[in-house]
Amino acid sequence: MAALDDRLWSLEFAGAARIPGWDGALAREVAEHFETFAQQRIHPLDSAGDLQGCRLMEGRAYLPDGFAQVYRELAQAGWQGLTAPEEFGGQGLGPAVQALVSEAFSEACHALQMVAGLVPGAIRLLRQVATPDQQARFIPELASGAWLSTMCLTEPDAGSDLSRIRTRAIRGAADWNISGEKIFISGGDQDASENILHLVLARSGPEGTRGLSLFACPAVLPDGSRNSIAVTRIERKMGLHGSPTCHMVFDQAKADLIGTAGQGLAAMFLLMNHARLDVGLQGVAHAAKAHAIARAYAHDRGQGRQPDGTPAVLADHPDIQRLLNDMDRQILAARALAHLALVALESGEDDLAEFLTPMAKVAGSETGMRVTETAMQVLGGYGYLQEYRLEQAYRDARICAIYEGANGIQALTLATRGLAHAQGAQAEAFERYVEDIAKSSADTLLPTALKEWHALCALVRTAPAETAPLFMQASIALAELAFWDRVTANCPGKARLQQRASVGRHVAAHTLHSQLHFARLNARQTETVLKRA
Ligand SMILES: Cc1cc2nc3c(=O)[nH]c(=O)nc-3n(C[C@H](O)[C@H](O)[C@H](O)COP(=O)(O)OP(=O)(O)OC[C@H]3O[C@@H](n4cnc5c(N)ncnc54)[C@H](O)[C@@H]3O)c2cc1C
Repeated sequence: MAALDDRLWSLEFAGAARIPGWDGALAREVAEHFETFAQQRIHPLDSAGDLQGCRLMEGRAYLPDGFAQVYRELAQAGWQGLTAPEEFGGQGLGPAVQALVSEAFSEACHALQMVAGLVPGAIRLLRQVATPDQQARFIPELASGAWLSTMCLTEPDAGSDLSRIRTRAIRGAADWNISGEKIFISGGDQDASENILHLVLARSGPEGTRGLSLFACPAVLPDGSRNSIAVTRIERKMGLHGSPTCHMVFDQAKADLIGTAGQGLAAMFLLMNHARLDVGLQGVAHAAKAHAIARAYAHDRGQGRQPDGTPAVLADHPDIQRLLNDMDRQILAARALAHLALVALESGEDDLAEFLTPMAKVAGSETGMRVTETAMQVLGGYGYLQEYRLEQAYRDARICAIYEGANGIQALTLATRGLAHAQGAQAEAFERYVEDIAKSSADTLLPTALKEWHALCALVRTAPAETAPLFMQASIALAELAFWDRVTANCPGKARLQQRASVGRHVAAHTLHSQLHFARLNARQTETVLKRA
């Protein structure tokens, strides 16, 4: 497990004290409790679940052996209600504490975290848009863990482009009826909870996203009968074998409209913003786990000789040290970005949070992929074998760049909405944040990078689709440079952090500079093509 100290430090360094009600000592106590439970009960499921996978029998999905039992223990211990208000049976703790728990959960077993982890976001959504009666019916069940929840968006013809959703919602006498097909639904069915609250995006109005509404569709109806929802298949996939990815058919399934008709996508985003940060932290969790395995192995495995001829371990070799340090640096930076976005979200800095959230999703998921891959290299042949479970982390982490909005779509969002929405308020909030740090920079690295980012913004505005991935990487690099500048200034005497910062600042500045270079090349090529035409 990654050191809890790292996680707590990161949250507090990101400004957790600004979040109303933040209590660092309580956060530590809660996270320590959870980590003990995760190590003892959840982590042992991870590799066994990967090897066994889920099953579909007579229309019902079953998790690997032991998952349902451990989930019930988790629910009994109150972990599902961590962020639910006390009046709904929860513990009323904030999303920052939840982030500590979620990262540890994903590190212990991403597959089970996928099944249980949407509940805090679902509760948050219901609290914001559901009626008091709906809140009273659904939130206590979710908080107690008796019910789990899903997010049903994707359809055979509607993936990134949700305006193509065809699942229909027809108003009946008492409630709504949902009919259509949803694919790739995580936890669409399972044998762990008594009921499942499917949050379904369906069409109740005209074409396009304005005709979409959000519905709560329970798997089991209040009279105990099963709603008309069938799981027709569970997908075979590269990783996350312990998480059932379900193909579902809704056939006039009974549902409640949540919020206003036609506002479904906006409502779903209340859940998705939370989920995108969670996915960023899933990537960080895989990276932290892989780094810990690689570090322990490199200090143990005897191989080669020291310059003086005495036997060496892998960690004595400069190249292995460099790989381990690079991994550590990437983890610290990606976690810092996710925590910064979380603090902005929870302290009401909405524009900054909107800009940072897609960045945090991309940075965390890419760090998960890169670091698990590097960790395998550190272990050599053993990294490729099943024994150390790095190949599982590599396979499991891969999905984070795809689901919850593929990374390419996150980049497009940043290059379009991030730069243009409300006269560019989101990008301005980010710029102000970096500017404040640059004011007290000891050298010109960050101020120069900020100017380059400005120049890049101008190019991106003229060709957002072509330059979006460059803009995403450059914006992440700017945020990382600002983070490492703060570390340099505020953490004197912390040798590990200072070493990572001294490298991290230059890597980030270089990354930003090259993205600007490529964007200029792209602009020149476009100009040449236009002139020829
Ligand atoms: C294991 C797993 C679990 C999942 N869980 C859920 C879940 O619980 N609920 C749910 O609703 N969905 C779920 N999904 C679906 C997931 O969210 C989608 O796979 C994802 O949104 C991408 O959609 P798609 O697969 O249709 O890819 P596509 O939309 O076809 O995209 C393919 C590629 O093209 C790019 N692309 C697409 N459109 C554009 C464009 N306009 N411009 C530039 N590039 C573009 C994308 O970035 C991507 O790289 C899950 C998927 C998996 C594999």
